[in-house]
Amino acid sequence: MIATEKTIQTDTQSTGNAWDVVRIRRDFPVLAQTVNSKPLVYLDNAASSQVPQVVIDRGSRYLREEHSNIHRGVHYLSQRATTAYEGAREKVRRFINAREARECIFVRGSTEGINLVMHGYGRKSVGVGDEIVISAMEHHANIVPWQMLCEEKGAKLRVIPMNDDGELLLDEYEALLNERTKIVGVMHVSNALGTINPIKEIVARAHKQGVPVLVDGAQGAPHLKVDVQDLDCDFYTISGHKMFAPTGSGVVYGKAELLERMQPFMGGGDMIRTVTFEQTTYAGLPNKFEAGTPAIASQIGLGAAIDYLNSLDRAAAHRYEQELLAYATAKLSAIEGVRIIGTAREKTGSLSFVIEDVHPHDVGTILDQEGIAIRAGHHCAQPTMKRFNVPATARASFAFYNTKEEVDRLVAAVQKVIEVFS
Ligand code: PMP
Repeated sequence: MIATEKTIQTDTQSTGNAWDVVRIRRDFPVLAQTVNSKPLVYLDNAASSQVPQVVIDRGSRYLREEHSNIHRGVHYLSQRATTAYEGAREKVRRFINAREARECIFVRGSTEGINLVMHGYGRKSVGVGDEIVISAMEHHANIVPWQMLCEEKGAKLRVIPMNDDGELLLDEYEALLNERTKIVGVMHVSNALGTINPIKEIVARAHKQGVPVLVDGAQGAPHLKVDVQDLDCDFYTISGHKMFAPTGSGVVYGKAELLERMQPFMGGGDMIRTVTFEQTTYAGLPNKFEAGTPAIASQIGLGAAIDYLNSLDRAAAHRYEQELLAYATAKLSAIEGVRIIGTAREKTGSLSFVIEDVHPHDVGTILDQEGIAIRAGHHCAQPTMKRFNVPATARASFAFYNTKEEVDRLVAAVQKVIEVFS
């Protein structure tokens, strides 16, 4: 069934909250198109979410009226661009409740943020025989940089195991922590399984041993309220393109006292105080970590995306997303031959599944013919795939603009896949 405004409205009312998905969908122009002659169903939000018109408009306004390099110029345009860029940083600060804006370093996304911490903190603090603790469900972005560091320093990677539902085993985690542990890196929400990890508890247990914690928040910030002071995490990364902002935008939050002790990630313009051929002294935070010309338009766009999110009832958005996830989970699990991968009690965003005897890439291709965008593959989490004994999964991932009718179309298309392969 094609989702008309009327059917969607009815559906929204049945959810019992005030979430007006018809109105919300109008904010996202990309959703109103057809793919393969069918209305687009966009269920690949964990890879990149869509961008609302207000964010598009803010980016265009910057390019039309303000485009100029930041920080260095005394002229009008440069000052306007700088004000907008630094304004976006303050919006980020408020959004994650950091103490100070200088604790919010602009980066291209979570990958760059984690690499910044690996270089800036890890290379200085980790030595031979030291240990780095990550979890069994991490994205490659929170595995590979630490492996590179271990290789360079002769350190060891320790892995927190998970159970068959995709939940971390906290007692086993605690047993991994010791005086050699130099950092813990854990994702807030799993992109492959949808699990929400108990970050506050994970941080508290690491801090008992004096170990700092990096949280990969790529999938956390788009779905959950993030308060870095309440979580008490030492680092938190955000990918703007998963949070209704343009690609190239992102943040790594770090506690000021840690960032100040860290070495710069990249050297170049804007991150220095003085340069001579004999010696360079570095700028203060956040500039020390922002060498070269940043993605000015994208970060201003991230600020606009935060304004947009703040204009919504985020608690209602979350409830609505949870209902969609529950609805999709019930419908898909009822189909014979479909197995859900990731059945944690606390989940958000992503729903991974496999169909008996069908490769997930075939699922993705057939769904695309139906105008449905999902992701098929290992989701940059090959160890997670191995843990669940599958080469890959199909993954539908939701945002607050998706509808139950779209889930129904997903379910019908999955049934069609099964028919094709039976
Ligand atoms: N961590 C997680 C959990 C992710 O889902 C992703 C993106 N798939 C990343 C890290 C990497 O983010 P980015 O590509 O924006 O750097």
